[in-house]
Amino acid sequence: MSTLRRRLTVLAPLAALPLVLTGCAGASGADDGTVDVLASFYPLQFVAQQVGGDRVDVASLTPPGAEPHDVELSPAQVARIDSADLVVYLSGFQAAVDDAVDQTSPAHVVDAASDTTLMAPAEEDHEGETEEEHEEHGDLDPHFWLDPSRMPSVVQDVADTLTEIDPDGADTFAANAAALTQRFEELDAQYAAGLEQCDSRTFVTSHEAFGYLADRYDLRQVGISGVDPEAEPSPARLAEVEQLVRDEGVSTIFFETLVSPKVAETLAGDLGVQTAVLDPIEGLADPDADYFSIAGANLDALRMALSCS
Ligand SMILES: [Zn+2]
Repeated sequence: MSTLRRRLTVLAPLAALPLVLTGCAGASGADDGTVDVLASFYPLQFVAQQVGGDRVDVASLTPPGAEPHDVELSPAQVARIDSADLVVYLSGFQAAVDDAVDQTSPAHVVDAASDTTLMAPAEEDHEGETEEEHEEHGDLDPHFWLDPSRMPSVVQDVADTLTEIDPDGADTFAANAAALTQRFEELDAQYAAGLEQCDSRTFVTSHEAFGYLADRYDLRQVGISGVDPEAEPSPARLAEVEQLVRDEGVSTIFFETLVSPKVAETLAGDLGVQTAVLDPIEGLADPDADYFSIAGANLDALRMALSCS
């Protein structure tokens, strides 16, 4: 699953290198013996940190609290991709990261897209869209991490690749991976039980990030803005969603934390329904939160909106 990329460059003997001071803390994990890992956005960063523990030094290419879809990379970040011991990313999600990985030679790469089968967004998501608009945002929905049952295969790939890089850590990585996998499995069971008996199975959300979650737990996601959170919904799409909210008696319109809730709030105000947060776990708005705390809050919010017992 992971790609081992042999460096094409031959390193000069250390003594011949000029002393270079980089202002970038932790730019190379080699100094202190830890594995230098770069993750492209938060859920993959979380997995690498949990599996690697104190044997790794994990940085993210997406700043904390930033929206990862359209991330742009500085030349310094591209250079760090080239020098990292391991890059963990999701091909097809962040074009700048895809380009940088293609153009550089990180020692090891884990592409999470090779660990899970990505799906196309549900057909109804593209009503009212022209053929060109459909082409623009690609064919596959990237948001697999919102289905916790899809995470253990990424955990295993990261653990296997870290073990190739740092064989002395094999036992640590295996134990950490087993513990993390168990947490994802428990979360999956909580979602399945918590969303089993609900008055409604349809939820409306600004950013259409919950297709995998909906698929896993037999819910129906209705998105306002599409798979890309920055996209402006068309008047036709807004009218469709309004009709659906009225027809199905939807109680709540969800918005997310990293992108302005204006469209969701305006729509909810017009329709006289509530708004609440459903977090796509693409970045941390609250530094004290983590994947599991946010996923738990999402479950509570869905159970409330759908009147689950
Ligand atoms: Zn997204």
